[in-house]
Amino acid sequence: MILQAGLAAFLMLLIGDFLATFVYHVPEHVFGRYHAVVHHSPRRSFVRYVIRKGQPQALVSGFLAAFPYLMLVPLLWPLSAGGTLLGLGLAELHVIWRHQFAPGYRTPTAVKRLCQLCFITTPERHLIHHQNGNLAFGDVFTFYGQPAAQWLQFLRRLKRQLSQTA
Ligand SMILES: [Zn+2]
Ligand SMILES: [Zn+2]
Repeated sequence: MILQAGLAAFLMLLIGDFLATFVYHVPEHVFGRYHAVVHHSPRRSFVRYVIRKGQPQALVSGFLAAFPYLMLVPLLWPLSAGGTLLGLGLAELHVIWRHQFAPGYRTPTAVKRLCQLCFITTPERHLIHHQNGNLAFGDVFTFYGQPAAQWLQFLRRLKRQLSQTA
């Protein structure tokens, strides 16, 4: 029971971050518009952006960012309902935590070590991505960073080729 719940929560984070990184985040940096404009701005709120700019289509990008996790709910629910909800909760908590960009913020050394051991993205690492959209992909897990960088290069080449043949 507890094992199944832990597995469901872990799979939610592992598969959710994989899909979010390779199907949404990296392609959005190459072909999209609103992630870079909204999420990489200091305020990051898609809702605020829509109200300010009157461009409701930006909400689609905001929704797509969460969709990889939400689509896993019906798949992981039969394994463990509690674990699925726990995974969603942890994913949301990590979103809040990894955006601690206040100048005085430092992740405590023990937490930093634990994150290094478990390949978890810290706010310091995620800040690198916010400052330079070519670097430090992998919202939850750092091991997605390297393949994501290659995926980014591949999609950029593809975009160039497509624009040349168009
Ligand atoms: Zn972010
Ligand atoms: Zn980004």
